[in-house]
Amino acid sequence: MKHYIFAGLIRLSAMKTSKYFKDEEFQRCQPPCSINDMEQDFLDRLDALRERCGVPLTLTSAYRPIEWERARGRTGSGDHPNRRGVDIATADSSAKFRIVKSALELGFKRIGIAAGFVHIGDTAALPQNVIWLY
Ligand SMILES: [Zn+2]
Repeated sequence: MKHYIFAGLIRLSAMKTSKYFKDEEFQRCQPPCSINDMEQDFLDRLDALRERCGVPLTLTSAYRPIEWERARGRTGSGDHPNRRGVDIATADSSAKFRIVKSALELGFKRIGIAAGFVHIGDTAALPQNVIWLY
């Protein structure tokens, strides 16, 4: 129990950083979360994606608690509860192309394509080299 509390304090004290994404952008996600809910190395890769795309990226979903996922009939084992996935809004097909092309060039191996967003994830324990549709 002591160790559990200690680990929680370490997580709270380790402020996550991003060159391009502000905490407010994570708070506007569905469900609202914090930049601190994400893994730092994933944020670094997200920054690289933003830089390569060359245009602002709007996040619509980032960290999602397991309970939130399960309440919607999902397993809770996806990129979002693993703190290693985001959904990025796409206004049109060229925005989709730009994001998917850049993500592939940067070595992302988990991409989902929906009508209004592209999912980018990099949970190593989940299937790699996959693109899915919603
Ligand atoms: Zn997603």
